This record gives sequence, C-alpha cells and structure tokens, in this order.
Amino acid sequence: MTQITPQSGIMEISLYQSGASKIEGVEQVVKLSSNENPFGPSEAALEAFRRASYTLHRYPSTDHADLRAAIGEVHGLDPARIICGVGSDEVIHFLCQCYAGPGDEVIHTEHGFSMYRISALAAGATPVEVSECDRVVDVDAILAACNDRTRLVFIANPANPTGTMLSKSALTRLADGVPDHTILVIDSAYAEYAKGYDGGAALATVRPNVVMTRTFSKLYGLGGLRVGWGYGPQDIIDVLNRIRGPFNLSQPALVTAEAAVRDRAYAEKCRTENARLRDWLAAALADVGVPSDRSSANFILARFESAAQAEACNAHLNAQGLIVRATTGYKLPQCLRITIGDEASCRRVAHAIGQFLGAET
Ligand SMILES: *Cc1c(COP(=O)(O)O)cnc(C)c1O
Repeated sequence: MTQITPQSGIMEISLYQSGASKIEGVEQVVKLSSNENPFGPSEAALEAFRRASYTLHRYPSTDHADLRAAIGEVHGLDPARIICGVGSDEVIHFLCQCYAGPGDEVIHTEHGFSMYRISALAAGATPVEVSECDRVVDVDAILAACNDRTRLVFIANPANPTGTMLSKSALTRLADGVPDHTILVIDSAYAEYAKGYDGGAALATVRPNVVMTRTFSKLYGLGGLRVGWGYGPQDIIDVLNRIRGPFNLSQPALVTAEAAVRDRAYAEKCRTENARLRDWLAAALADVGVPSDRSSANFILARFESAAQAEACNAHLNAQGLIVRATTGYKLPQCLRITIGDEASCRRVAHAIGQFLGAET
C-alpha cells in the first residue's frame, strides 16, 4: 500500500459540477446553465483584451493597482481594502486557507454554493451545513450554529441557485450576531442584478469581521477570464495578500476587467434587460403552473411537482437543444435553475416547458 496520502479532508471533496455546455447529437445549443451574461462583455472590455495581446511577453502587475483603483472609483470603496483573485472562487479559497484549519468550523447553508464546502475541506476545516427556510438563508439558524470553533460563515446574497436574498436589516442582524472571532463572508456574485443593493459593502466598511466578495463572471460577462475581488477590513485583506500568488491575474485579465468595470452604461443596460426578461420568464412559467421564488439574480429556480417531473422536463429541454441546470446537487431535485438568456432564448425555454407540461396532462 502506498505511503503517499493527501491531507485529511481532501478525499471528502467531490469534484465541482459545472453547468453542461453540450448535448450529444445537437449542434446548436442554447446554454442557460451557468448564469453567464447572454450579451457577453462590453465592447470596451473586448477592445482592451485585444490590445493586451501586444504585451503578452511582459509579466503582469503584482499589486493590481489600476484594477483596484477602477473598482474603488466605480463602487466608492477604498482600493487599499480590495484584493483581486482568479475569480471570486480564489478569494473564497484564500479566506479558508488563512482563517480555517483542522478543528475549525466553516458554516455554509443548505442550498449554498458548493465552493464554500470545497474550500473549507481543502483547508482541513470542517464544513457545517445549516438549513434554510423555504429556500431562503435562515439568519437565526446560522446564529444558533455558531460556536467557539466557527471561523467563517459563507452566505451568497442574492443566493445561488435560489435567487432569493436577505433584506438589509436581516443582513445587518446576521453581521450583528456572528461571534467576534468569526468572519461573515457575503458572496455578492449577483449583487449587480439586485437594484439598490450595495452587496454588503457598507457592512464590510465598518465591521471588523465582514468581507464582501464580487465577480466579473456574471453581469460583466467575463466568466472565461476568471477575475473576482474581495473587500473588507484592512487587516484581513493584508492577511489574504500574503498567500496570493504575485502573478495570480494575467495582464489581459487585469486590463479587460478594468475596462469592463468602467463601462457603467453597458452594465446598466445588461442589468435592465435581465430584470425585464426575468420578470417575463417568471410570469410565463407561472402561467403554465411552474412557480419560482422572486429572483434578485440572473436566473430563476423553476419548481416542479416532483423530482421525477423536473428530470423529465430537463430531458425534454435537452431534446430541444436547451441546457438548463439540474439542482439535485444543491438538494433541490424538484427544481431546475434557468439562466436568463436573451429574449429569443427565454421565449424558447418558456415555450418548451409549456409544451412539456401540456403533453404530460
Ligand atoms: C458564479 C458564482 C460566483 C463567481 O465565481 P467566480 O469564481 O468569480 O467565477 C461566486 N459565488 C456564487 C454564489 C456564484 O454563483
């Protein structure tokens, strides 16, 4: 038997399941499984990306000063308190690596994003799952689960895959209630889609133990580039920077993200179009008897009568060239998560689901 064994916890990690992008035998698919922006990145971002090809022989900036300055300017935040990562996934990883280890607990919620558990296990810590209340993060349940060993609490707000979100007062109550030795991480990957929401920035500005994470993968249409960021207390950001690879972000990634965040008009256009089509799709599905919770993100979680019905509907959509996300892995087997695509895609998916249910009865 081999003496070569991984650190404890590593073998408990199941590989991350990403949204499917192919259907056997179908050439033209509509991918609505990964919450990508159907319109792609802004023209300004694409232009910056093309220009970056002229400097590929140069190492990138190690301190990301220009990108952090742009983010700070657009979001009204102190750039010194921002850290950029290879997607927000990397920032989540830094948080677990720096603050949780063997014997420590990391709280995530019942239907929460799978990266929290993966990163906690990778750090040797113990992930603790807390139940939600009707697909909404339960503040009281989280507070009841906190103890001396709790080092991190992860929630996504708006949440994925439910699309639900905590109000400002509920979020504040959570921040008020977590112990002083626990960092509350507000994963705001979908914050841009929730009108009037600051992503938890105000809390992360004034509290010593609140960190906000953000991404360029969703509204900014740059999932393929891998850029995310975190914002929080200076001492926490300084700690995270100690384990960040000096060249974690490439030059094309840095300049493209900077151009993207500065193009506020394009971001606003995408946000407005998403809200319009999200409302339309939710209403169209409700009309054929498929309810969903009110979503504050760029997807809706369609609820079917049973897991079997959701699975059959998913197969029907696949046969039509439509790929949505099965949510069995998120403990929601009776649901399908549908990304808000462009208008034609939304109409197609609504039509196909109506057709499926019509044929069933
Ligand atoms: C998509 C998503 C992210 C973004 O991850 P990146 O690594 O920035 O692409 C983070 N959190 C949640 C909940 C998400 O759904």
